[in-house]
Amino acid sequence: MERLVCVNCGAAYKADDILYNCTKCGHLLEVRYNLDEITVSKKAWQKRPLSVWRYRELLPVHIEPVTLQEGGTPLYHLRRLGDEMGLKNLYAKHEGMNPSGSFKDRGMTVGVSMALQLKMKSVACASTGNTSASLAVYAAKAGIPAVVLLPAGKVALGKVAQALMHGARVISIRGNFDRALEMVHELCLSHGLYLLNSINPYRLEGQKTIGFEAVDQLGGVPDRFVLPVGNAGNISAVYKGLLELKELGFIGSLPMMTGIQAVGSSPVVRAIHENLPEVIPELHPETVATAIRIGAPVNAEKALVAIRKTGGCAESVTDEEILRTQRDLARKEGIGVEPASAASVAGVQKLVESGAIDRSERIVCVVTGHLLKDPDTVIRQCEPPTEIDADLPSLLSALRL
Ligand SMILES: *Cc1c(COP(=O)(O)O)cnc(C)c1O
Ligand SMILES: [Zn+2]
Repeated sequence: MERLVCVNCGAAYKADDILYNCTKCGHLLEVRYNLDEITVSKKAWQKRPLSVWRYRELLPVHIEPVTLQEGGTPLYHLRRLGDEMGLKNLYAKHEGMNPSGSFKDRGMTVGVSMALQLKMKSVACASTGNTSASLAVYAAKAGIPAVVLLPAGKVALGKVAQALMHGARVISIRGNFDRALEMVHELCLSHGLYLLNSINPYRLEGQKTIGFEAVDQLGGVPDRFVLPVGNAGNISAVYKGLLELKELGFIGSLPMMTGIQAVGSSPVVRAIHENLPEVIPELHPETVATAIRIGAPVNAEKALVAIRKTGGCAESVTDEEILRTQRDLARKEGIGVEPASAASVAGVQKLVESGAIDRSERIVCVVTGHLLKDPDTVIRQCEPPTEIDADLPSLLSALRL
């Protein structure tokens, strides 16, 4: 049976305690399994479809899960972009191919299943967009109500559309994401809604399967795993999962965990570069990559450990670099992602140029969300379609043929 354990003081709690922080010291919790009781083999896993639930022995859900077939996303070899950077083994795991179009679905299939297992009647989150879209989808599938808090005017169009269409109660606050999270956290504690931000340790359990899948798809552990960092939950989750695989003897080494943030919103990068014991929150985070526009990452404590223990690193990229890489992925690889997702690949380019990444490395970039999430940012970068009269001469002249 699993337990919840404080990552700071080691206090342990029952798996069915409704807790988001250690009650002794206030720090983050994580799910711990009795790994010696886990008898599944790698072979048995590989016989199942590639998905979050392939790995159910390392997940905390013991009821029939709330699932829409999340995970099983493609791992693409980036031949063109890799060539340009001098990298033969550059890969992108396209998490935009999940049911709601981002990796948040891996967390929500587990998180909303846990809400039912724990007999909670409603769910809630704060969100820069994708968490709300995903929560709305999985709450709909589970048949329970969802409340989502968004920073007014700072959420990409496609994500708001999803949250609304799937039937969540959508509230826009005149404040940023960090404030929305404080508010929803208080609401959940006072009114018994189940909080499904990444501070919830069960959500991260679903997200760790990105690492499991990448290892299965590559047939081994990559040298480096690169992720865009907002609340720093995903990078922490992938590290935790791979650590479990290593303890089970399924893999022999860990990848260098590498986190990429936007220049205007980079407290984790600063903490790594300046070797700080903890992050200093950024009060006014700003970036075109709204999914990582977060000044006070709630999982920073876990992420700093992941990066430091694996000899990884952190880097920031400008909005221009993010958008250029978004276009490059779209035009040279056929991969459509939202701006935050492109940060991982833009970060690799920067780290290769600075010499921090060796060109012989095998690298997996997580591209986190789909292009259609943020159509406004796409349209702003592109020439509008050429409108012509409906006759062939006009067409030929428009095409300059
Ligand atoms: C949530 C999200 C991120 C950031 O993930 P964290 O776990 O908050 O670090 C990055 N990109 C996209 C598209 C996201 O939806
Ligand atoms: Zn504690």
